[in-house]
Amino acid sequence: MDKYDAIIIGAGPAGMFAAYELCKNRNDLKILIIDKGKTVEKRICQMKETEKCINCETCDIMCGVGGAGTFSDGLLNLRPDIGGNLEEFTKNKSDARELVNYVDEVYVKFGAPKEKLGTCQEKIDELKKKSASVGVHFVDIQQRHMGSDGATRVIKNFVNYLKSRNVEILTEEEVEDLIVENNICKGIVLKNHPNRKIFSDQTILCPGRIGVGLTSKVINKHKISARYKAIDIGVRVEIPAIIMDDIISINRDPKFQLWTQQYGDFVRTFCTNHHGFVVKERYKNFVCVNGHSLLNEKSENTNFAFLVKINLTEPLENTTLYGELCAHTATLLGGGKPLIQRLGDLRWGRRSTPERLKRSFVEPTLKDVTPSNLAMVFSHRILADILEGLEKLNAVIPGVASDSTLIYAPEIKFYAMRVEVDKAMQTSVKNLFAAGDGAGLSRDIINASATGVLAGRGILNFLK
Ligand SMILES: Cc1cc2nc3c(=O)[nH]c(=O)nc-3n(C[C@H](O)[C@H](O)[C@H](O)COP(=O)(O)OP(=O)(O)OC[C@H]3O[C@@H](n4cnc5c(N)ncnc54)[C@H](O)[C@@H]3O)c2cc1C
Repeated sequence: MDKYDAIIIGAGPAGMFAAYELCKNRNDLKILIIDKGKTVEKRICQMKETEKCINCETCDIMCGVGGAGTFSDGLLNLRPDIGGNLEEFTKNKSDARELVNYVDEVYVKFGAPKEKLGTCQEKIDELKKKSASVGVHFVDIQQRHMGSDGATRVIKNFVNYLKSRNVEILTEEEVEDLIVENNICKGIVLKNHPNRKIFSDQTILCPGRIGVGLTSKVINKHKISARYKAIDIGVRVEIPAIIMDDIISINRDPKFQLWTQQYGDFVRTFCTNHHGFVVKERYKNFVCVNGHSLLNEKSENTNFAFLVKINLTEPLENTTLYGELCAHTATLLGGGKPLIQRLGDLRWGRRSTPERLKRSFVEPTLKDVTPSNLAMVFSHRILADILEGLEKLNAVIPGVASDSTLIYAPEIKFYAMRVEVDKAMQTSVKNLFAAGDGAGLSRDIINASATGVLAGRGILNFLK
């Protein structure tokens, strides 16, 4: 009979850090990590220049050892409250910060560059002051930039360490279900070998965003406590790169946050791509937009997501369904393509046409789009938040809200249902722990890694 002390579902940052914490402290434990993707050496980046296939089941971008961030820019946001909120799981702010430092040190140990970005305090303070004077919060983040080559190198070194500590890594095997009896988790079932049950004393569920199907299934089937989270709905803004040069020299991925006056909603910038490209993000039944930068090709533009946080209460708490409805409407109106509108046209309440778009001084980087009127897609509340937010941002970054600014839609950040966990990251099912994006507990590499560490520590405490 296959039997382990701990099984970890998913070899992304959360799973790898959980294994790290376990094997670093206990060399006697029998630990297995299972990932439905390939080893890091076998993974191929299939990201097309104009598309991100976020939900593609076979895509190596999202699956495999190293997880979803392996082919990314590898930007580590060294804050406990960006990409999640670690303070929810620690005793206080300083413990949350310590956890980020601990995770960061491990990345450096495995080869992340020693230098940090965003350390010029004088310029940061100046930007913070200017932002605060118009009701915008500039989030001061120190970052470590691994780069896509650097990220894969770090993952390879990480894997070698885990193997040297006898951690087994099983790849190209998908976990189909958990074995739960009397509300106690006892192991897992593999999709391709339904008769081969693998048993474990402790199990960690960390299958990332690509694994939300597994998470939803086990939540429903085994009655694991979970709840819907807020969803981020909005647009991708494209402007001339020169407008952002000064800000980018302070922070590579600057994050601005504000509360709108009219609706009191939280609006933020996210994922800035300087000299980047707007791309399609294809889902099974609809299409959204996203952005990325390329190593060898630069555009004249900069793009960033501008997102409104939407929370729903009874009778419809399912934010995913609401987001899907918005995305469906947009895809329907766009004839299967994302929508584009000039900010001037949006202000004056008229549809952008190819002729009106030609009047924009910004050349769109995504061409396969439908000129449209976003007022046909979004609620008044979301549109008003976006317009008010851009006006405020314009006071910090002059030119951002010019009539020529291009707005692509929809940009939606779907999040997994949040699995309820205690401070040891144990779920309502005994001996089942959760970590990372797939359990709705994080949204970036550092936070996913940190929740993995906490799950590892939770199990170690249990074993004492
Ligand atoms: C293109 C892209 C760029 C990004 N860039 C950045 C960045 O620069 N900085 C940053 O902080 N964040 C970035 N992110 C987000 C970051 O990658 C994630 O927040 C992080 O990887 C989440 O870690 P995780 O361990 O929770 O899940 P993941 O990294 O998603 O790993 C989960 C693993 O579980 C496996 N899995 C899923 N289901 C199963 C199953 N049923 N059985 C077995 N295995 C399964 C998957 O194959 C996957 O390898 C990016 C994401 C993407 C997609």
